[in-house]
Amino acid sequence: MLATGTDLLARDGAAVAAITTYTLESTRAIVLAAERVGRPVMLQAGASSFGAVGREPLAAAALAAARASSVPVGVHLDHSRSVEEIEACIALGYSSVMIDGSHEEYEANVAVTRRVVELAHAAGVWVEAELGALAGDEDASSTTDHEAGAMTDPDQAADFVARTGVDALAVAIGNVHGFTPRPVRLDLGRLREIAAATPVPLVLHGASGLPDEDLLGAVELGVVKVNVNAELRRAHIGALRADVGDDVRKLQQLAVEAMATVAAQKIELLSGRS
Ligand SMILES: [Zn+2]
Repeated sequence: MLATGTDLLARDGAAVAAITTYTLESTRAIVLAAERVGRPVMLQAGASSFGAVGREPLAAAALAAARASSVPVGVHLDHSRSVEEIEACIALGYSSVMIDGSHEEYEANVAVTRRVVELAHAAGVWVEAELGALAGDEDASSTTDHEAGAMTDPDQAADFVARTGVDALAVAIGNVHGFTPRPVRLDLGRLREIAAATPVPLVLHGASGLPDEDLLGAVELGVVKVNVNAELRRAHIGALRADVGDDVRKLQQLAVEAMATVAAQKIELLSGRS
């Protein structure tokens, strides 16, 4: 079922995996994995995934898969910088959206986030925003090290949440999008301060390649949504290298199974049950 409202963000010692989809196969794999584990999941469809296949087809597939699922599935717009795109996704039936104003000056980030919160809440949709700057590319891992971006300041986070009314906050605590040549370590002390200063659930982007103990440490300190992407991309591309002659169905099946296996491991890990 399509999960509406913020139930997916309940702080019960677990975090929901929010997994990026680019294709029908990855959409299927993510929902299948959640059903196998018996846990909710979030499908992150867009904004950077819309490029090759189009917004409406990818969104329609994600929403249809969510509605047909036996477990709650949120459909979320990831990293949008466009209010127009956010409005379009809300009209399509998305259950949550992310406005990413982190590249803006602080006051501009507050203003655009507040505007999105107003229009999204009017439609019953919850909003994630970002404060601090995350290094790296959401859609492709880098072969060189990134300097970590500007970290989230706990006092500014408190001000930002109070002034915007945002429902969830993505934090920069040393995390970097995608796999990195050198292992990334999280500043869990900073995360603890942000969690103490703000009343809203926290979101961790760029968790690929983090040691499990860092990831679970972050969940313990108040992270309730963890974005997952690079691991599935690798599984997807690995499966597409199989030699299946010209049988597309075999390739689809291999891709779905490879991604579902990786997704299920992440969902299970973040459930805090293992
Ligand atoms: Zn991200």
